[in-house]
Amino acid sequence: MKTIVLKFGGTSVGTIDRIKKVSKIIAFYKKKKNKVLVVSSAMSGVTNELINKSKLISSNFDRAEYDALVSTGEQVSCALIAGRLKHNGFKSRSWTSWQLPILTDGPHSSARISSLGIKELNRYINSGGIPIITGFQGVSKNLRITTIGRSGSDATAIMLAKFIKADECIIYTDVDGVYTTDPRQYKKAKKIKKIFYDEMLEMASLGSKVMQPTSVQDAKLNKIDVEVKSSFVSKSGTLITNSKKAFSDQIITGISSTKNDAKITIVGVKDRPGVAASIFKPLSKNLINVDMVVQNISLDGKETDLTFTIKADDLKKTEKLIKQNKKISFKKLSFDKGVSKVSIIGVGMITTPGITYRMFQALASKKINILVISTSEIKISVLVSVKHVKKAIAALHKEFKLDKL
Ligand code: ADP
Ligand code: ASP
Ligand code: MG
Repeated sequence: MKTIVLKFGGTSVGTIDRIKKVSKIIAFYKKKKNKVLVVSSAMSGVTNELINKSKLISSNFDRAEYDALVSTGEQVSCALIAGRLKHNGFKSRSWTSWQLPILTDGPHSSARISSLGIKELNRYINSGGIPIITGFQGVSKNLRITTIGRSGSDATAIMLAKFIKADECIIYTDVDGVYTTDPRQYKKAKKIKKIFYDEMLEMASLGSKVMQPTSVQDAKLNKIDVEVKSSFVSKSGTLITNSKKAFSDQIITGISSTKNDAKITIVGVKDRPGVAASIFKPLSKNLINVDMVVQNISLDGKETDLTFTIKADDLKKTEKLIKQNKKISFKKLSFDKGVSKVSIIGVGMITTPGITYRMFQALASKKINILVISTSEIKISVLVSVKHVKKAIAALHKEFKLDKL
């Protein structure tokens, strides 16, 4: 008898018909005599609606109340799934995170799951029940409801699989696996059968929405193999794993791109040791995430230009913080909201020379200008104008022979 964790995303439970359909998928696993635990996200669009409501109440909505509010969508979908399973004669009940409890550490809206009460759950699954657990949320040590970041139900499922020592963790979504690039953006994208945690982590962090980055990190740390499958069509999916068996010899595994990036350039900054730290300190204090950074070498040692990227949502705040910063002086501040980061990812690049050249050449041949570059062992990212993103993905997909997988 296997213990299986199934997670359903927003679109998978987006309508009453979809909830009936996922109840059938759950029943399929249960009828095979498995112990089945389910994690569900809110019905699609619900979390966004709740966030919009908070914005209408206040532009500075209280963080704790924000979590109490946006976590409610999951309670609805879980109760509906459990209700449908009971209707079909199964033993099932919904479980909100505070009832288990799922304990979290860290700030509101980006907390991390630290522990999960499994005693009651074990008793329930051993008696044949199917628990339906709210994803995306937990409770802090002082018993306030917390959420664990957008798309956080993925992480709930993986942490549940860890604590319950599940044999399988399956993420059901609206695509039938992880593709070489977003299949909704590029029709020639191909499904990847197996992907290493590290590659999936880079793809997720660099904009491939199919898995939430924290969840992949949790899976890697706890050595949990994760399968990504479609709840819409019955097809084999993608296995996220560290097992080296039957991997392809592709150099590049996938291509990711980001949305809503902004580029800031501070021109003519008075150069001295510590100037970059002075610029970034107030940003870090205000939880503004700085991504790519380039600083020109100042030839005369007096002035330099500094360019960096942030999320476009943080642009106004960043502009204000730089202008208010008395520790730096500069000539000009310029912004560009229409930029996007395009990245190629693959463990194969560690051992293959010439990848950077091939990437730059492929982009140059399509007359795509590169604004900023950043690299790590298994990825190369370039910042380009947002209008070039589709063209860049197509050129790179072709260059690294992903069209032919
Ligand atoms: P869920 O609501 O099930 O969590 P998400 O919307 O979070 O689903 O993730 C699924 C979406 O991720 C797909 O609809 C697809 O457009 C997008 N996506 C982005 N990059 C990829 C990729 N490389 N492979 C598959 N899907 C991707
Ligand atoms: N419902 C939450 C969100 O929209 C969590 C999730 O989908 O995983 O972010
Ligand atoms: Mg998701």
